[in-house]
Amino acid sequence: MHEEEQAARSEQPPPQPSPAERGRGHNEQTPVTVLLGCIADDLTGATDLANMLAREGMHTVQTIGIPARELVLPPADAVVIALKSRTIAPEDAVRQSLVALDWLKRNGARQILFKYCSTFDSTDAGNIGPVADALLKALHARFTIACPAFPENGRSLFQGNLFVGNVALADSGMRHHPLTPMTDSNLVRVLGRQTKAKVGLVPYNIVREGPAAIRKAFEQLQHDGMTFAIVDAIENQHLRDIGAAASDLALITGGSGIAIGLPANFRKENRLAPAGPPEKLERIEGLSAVLSGSCSQATLGQIAAWKARRPAFALDPLALAQGRDLVADATAWAQIHMSREPVLIYASAPPEEVAKVQAALGREKAGALIEETLARIAQRLVAAGLRKLVIAGGETSGAIVQRLGVSVLKIGPQIDPGVPWTVSLGTPRLALALKSGNFGGPDFFIKALEMLA
Ligand code: ADP
Repeated sequence: MHEEEQAARSEQPPPQPSPAERGRGHNEQTPVTVLLGCIADDLTGATDLANMLAREGMHTVQTIGIPARELVLPPADAVVIALKSRTIAPEDAVRQSLVALDWLKRNGARQILFKYCSTFDSTDAGNIGPVADALLKALHARFTIACPAFPENGRSLFQGNLFVGNVALADSGMRHHPLTPMTDSNLVRVLGRQTKAKVGLVPYNIVREGPAAIRKAFEQLQHDGMTFAIVDAIENQHLRDIGAAASDLALITGGSGIAIGLPANFRKENRLAPAGPPEKLERIEGLSAVLSGSCSQATLGQIAAWKARRPAFALDPLALAQGRDLVADATAWAQIHMSREPVLIYASAPPEEVAKVQAALGREKAGALIEETLARIAQRLVAAGLRKLVIAGGETSGAIVQRLGVSVLKIGPQIDPGVPWTVSLGTPRLALALKSGNFGGPDFFIKALEMLA
């Protein structure tokens, strides 16, 4: 690294290879040589990270699940493998993450980023601690950081305490999350309960001094027997400095925000070209629609904004449960309107209606039934010529892309923070925007489709 740093400072730096050039000469089964290999614990979180990396000038590809051995990916600086491992049994999360790590290492990844939610969604059983422990061991590494901060989206870390907007994590809505209720804001304690390793802190007063001070703190913590450092960050500049200080770490863990500082390290090493304008995706021709299974507040607002201007079809989960063929109804309705203008099909509802549906059908059964229905509708609409699709909801997105057989996404320009346009590889090519519930401004759906016009 030091030699390369010197080369970077010399007057005529060696030309930076494009991802395609790096891939050349590699054996046929592994045509990609990745700089940054990422393992994300859910789908829309993976897209959020991929968006961040693309924004910072890395050609980024996202896979849905662990890529098949024989899958040939397009050249990329960063690959994000989207798992669905946030709330599964810790041993399964560990197993899947290690297989993902193995794929990334075989494809040349020089550094690994384990990405989880910026609200540190997890329980005392895991899965952040167990997965990070296993990745460290597999990488023969002894130290890593844990930094879910993302100030731009209101997630900041101070003295090891995570804030969501202006409230502490444990006082935020995350306190009542159905699967991963977060009732302790202090991440040194939270992570400490998930691992046998020791967890320390790099506090704000060190972080604000910059990369050299942060790096020194990492060394001191390791000297004191710590394996993990929770690192404070309340501004983007802190994330950039933490990224610079973490250039030598084999493993980094955090939210999508931590990725802000990582591309610069590869540029310093002359492995990555300077950031240019966002990558242009190929133009996709065809019909447009929005499918929504997200009941988050932001999505409900986006649906209201859409309905004021464009046609929408509401799915009634209770009618579905009684056997009504809403897949046929919704598809027939969409086919009438879609040739003239984009349509929205949604099951999304406010909390009191969701509670009624859940009381009648059970929470999981209701969720699965609606996800399955939206996925079948998507499949029929694609058969009818749909090619540009906005999907609202993390679980909903997962169910739909799985049904459509999508396994690889190329990442394009950002629509709103955390959500880029992507193009699926495979046949037919689809333009997909996968939006996690609370992301996007009120006009997100309209804005997203107008970007493609
Ligand atoms: P978000 O990203 O907003 O959390 P998800 O798609 O991850 O959205 O989760 C929303 C869940 O709620 C899905 O399982 C979906 O099927 C379910 N759902 C959608 N509409 C309703 C409804 N009207 N009643 C009950 N559950 C619903």
